[in-house]
Amino acid sequence: MGKRWGKLGRKTLRLSRSTPASAKIQSFPSRESFSGPMTAAANTSGTISSGVRVRFAPSPTGYLHVGGARTALFNWLFARRQGGAMILRIEDTDVERNRPELVEGILDGLRWLGLDWDEGPVFQSQRLDLHRAAAEKLLSAGAAYLCYCPPEKYAGGDAVEEEEDAKKEAGPRRITRCACREGKTAPAGTKPAVRFRVPQDAVTRFDDAVFGRREVANEEIEDFVVLRSPKAGQTEGLPTYQLSAVVDDIEMRITHVIRGADHISNTPKQVLLYRALRATPPVFAHVPLILGADRTRLSKRHGATSVSSYREEGFLPEAFRNFLALLGWSPGDDSEMLRTSELISRFSLEGVSRTNGVFDRAKLEWFNTQYLQKLPVEELLPAVQAELERSKLWQPEWAGEKHDWFAKTVDLLRPRTRLLPDFSTWARAFFSDAFDYDPAAREKFWKDERLGGMLAKLGDGLAVIGDWNHDGCDHVLRELAAAEGVKAGLLINATRVAIVGQAVAPPLFETMVVLGQERVVARLRRAVQALS
Ligand SMILES: [Zn+2]
Repeated sequence: MGKRWGKLGRKTLRLSRSTPASAKIQSFPSRESFSGPMTAAANTSGTISSGVRVRFAPSPTGYLHVGGARTALFNWLFARRQGGAMILRIEDTDVERNRPELVEGILDGLRWLGLDWDEGPVFQSQRLDLHRAAAEKLLSAGAAYLCYCPPEKYAGGDAVEEEEDAKKEAGPRRITRCACREGKTAPAGTKPAVRFRVPQDAVTRFDDAVFGRREVANEEIEDFVVLRSPKAGQTEGLPTYQLSAVVDDIEMRITHVIRGADHISNTPKQVLLYRALRATPPVFAHVPLILGADRTRLSKRHGATSVSSYREEGFLPEAFRNFLALLGWSPGDDSEMLRTSELISRFSLEGVSRTNGVFDRAKLEWFNTQYLQKLPVEELLPAVQAELERSKLWQPEWAGEKHDWFAKTVDLLRPRTRLLPDFSTWARAFFSDAFDYDPAAREKFWKDERLGGMLAKLGDGLAVIGDWNHDGCDHVLRELAAAEGVKAGLLINATRVAIVGQAVAPPLFETMVVLGQERVVARLRRAVQALS
């Protein structure tokens, strides 16, 4: 459980851990607050679309983080399962922290993961007038008031959320509300912020599709700012995250808000905003956090946290997607290898766990190896092609008249690969004549002084084979070993180093067949030179 939301009014928040989410969803207390979208939520295991609309809303303050990618994936799986729409919204209203150049990187990361969207990207910064109009509406309805106090004086001001959290103490919070709430004459020359007037003597409830019923006493919710006071030189203030997110979710008709559990502390305030704006809150589904192996929140200390670094390392997107899907979600049985179509058909909010997921790199590598080995080879070829293009080993004919050769070669190599770059490093000799002999392999298998002569004879013997196949190559090599009075293994190991430069490679005679007669003979002759 994340520290931040663990602090939120622990005395007033209740979890009904034993209640299955499906039951909770159908037991809403009042139709008044949860009518529309909740009907859709009850349909989470159905196949008929009920107008489901979800959004992924990253801020361009950094790269696409593993946690963000997992949230995007859950939204996408849910939308695809429900036949709904996925909307991409860029939350870029924080002008000080945003770096617009990062947007393209985030979109690239989503595209690499295969997560497409139906609408957007919508830039929140282009919608500020809409947000300000909502603040006006709140003011005129009496649901908000003008505050002339310095931003740092009362909780819920302009201060960064994290800083406020650091000040919070455990236990019920005592909220001091400023006098502006009761109406105050505007001091000359002071530009006000707009604060939300939290209704008193009430409890704010919502039913989280993952965490169940949540309740917080309004006495513990500060009169948060919805529109900041204009800065020097500005005539209008900027809306806060709380207001922008709610206004956009209403305007975009979002039915399900699926996001990280670190947002659970924002939700009571947002529910209050929905009601004040006369809108029905969506279904909230907070998904557990992702932790590192030491059970602290995933950060750079645990290794790479950006999606792009896994792409660069050579993980397959589908393997990464499968791995991410199981961080905080379970299909309900022990299945692990779930291709994307199965993830879609099995995904439900009921399967989302309340327990934080642990990012286990060894497990990710296991998934990658599984996909490299088990995908239909035709599905793997584009990824290997991209890798060979990157390493400048690619020949266009492998996609044309030599396609079958390419498929056969990849099939032969893949049981020994872990990451895509293995195809251009360890397996380089299968795609290029320009390769080096691995020094350790050479040291180990080229020690015998007779090998130069024997490899020369082997080259001569192989050069005259009429029908180039496994058994023919096998026969020539074993006959030579017998004639020379050496073990076949000595010759097999030396030949492997000669034709692929490595001590470990696919079975020798299959390798010979794939490389072809001309290449194998030429490489044996080159090895004879290297040995002399
Ligand atoms: Zn005030």
